[in-house]
Amino acid sequence: GRASSDSAVSGRVRVAVRLRPRNAEELVTDADFGDCVELQPELKRLKLRKNNWESDTYEFDEVLTEFSSQKRVYEVVAKPVVESVLEGYNGTVMAYGQTGTGKTFTLGRLGEEDTAARGIMVRALEDILADITPETDTVSVSYLQLYMEMIQDLLDPVNDNIAIVEDPRTGDVSLPGATVVEVRDQKSFMELLRIGEAHRTAANTKLNTESSRSHAILMVNVRRAVKGRNEMEVSISGENGHSSSMMGSFRPPIVRKSKLVVVDLAGSERIDKSGSEGHTLEEAKSINLSLSALGKCINALAENSPHVPVRDSKLTRLLKDSFGGTARTSLVVTIGPSPRHRGETTSTIMFGQRAM
Ligand code: ADP
Ligand code: MG
Repeated sequence: GRASSDSAVSGRVRVAVRLRPRNAEELVTDADFGDCVELQPELKRLKLRKNNWESDTYEFDEVLTEFSSQKRVYEVVAKPVVESVLEGYNGTVMAYGQTGTGKTFTLGRLGEEDTAARGIMVRALEDILADITPETDTVSVSYLQLYMEMIQDLLDPVNDNIAIVEDPRTGDVSLPGATVVEVRDQKSFMELLRIGEAHRTAANTKLNTESSRSHAILMVNVRRAVKGRNEMEVSISGENGHSSSMMGSFRPPIVRKSKLVVVDLAGSERIDKSGSEGHTLEEAKSINLSLSALGKCINALAENSPHVPVRDSKLTRLLKDSFGGTARTSLVVTIGPSPRHRGETTSTIMFGQRAM
């Protein structure tokens, strides 16, 4: 990504909350109970009911209701990040929330039959592919799962212990062991996502776990040729040895690299550790570790702290070059309406509040 400082790009994390509608079961079983939250989208406020009389009010950068379309969600949560990635900055879009509240619906829904249903990953690629110049620019993707502090390649699942490598000079983070596929059109991108999802399901069945127990990570690398030369804004790439000739004078091609990382986080629900043992207990510890490390990093970003503690987990190490500086981060916290899950909903809202 670009290293220049640009006052137009704030390091602050943008936080949206999205409420999913009641599902069929909740419509029946909770019919006599009101929702545990009340949204005031035009005021960007959410009221969390404490009891029949009282509620606590929270403000977010954006409040998305059960009626918000996928298109609107994309526009407020991801589009500004995608635009800055196209300008050469790194960006991250993450969904945090209890299992069943709509993280995958928000990020990963393919919407093959119904294009209006498409989620953020598909819409982001559509915007990126529409903006680049296919003759000179490339878009490539990797799709990974992070489970129990191990990174597995969802495009080649036998590859299940991928190392994170950090360039000591630039601080850029890369995964040299991961499959990288160049994407030229939406159709082949959707095919990759489908393959990745199938591998994810199969791998988790083999491990006897749920996919809600792992983080799914899509990395989109954008390399754009830059016209003209501005030392402040571009990095010069001579790695492939090419140089273009103009009227006898040689110039290395100037390539601007940036990446978009989309993270469908593991379910944030508290697992009853007292009742769990072995496998489940280890899973719970690992998820708590990475989500709390993530929480600390985004709190540090929100407070403009010079020290972002990325070392504590693989998740945050992976996101290191997408945190702070000129990088943009957008977080959507997903909640359900049921009063039954009031405790989890409260902790999700608090995670979002601490990020702002
Ligand atoms: P998560 O990934 O957080 O576990 P999912 O995205 O799988 O949750 O959503 C759980 C269920 O709720 C799915 O059946 C999904 O289709 C439905 N759902 C989630 N969000 C919405 C929404 N905004 N509108 C309609 N249905 C939704
Ligand atoms: Mg999910």
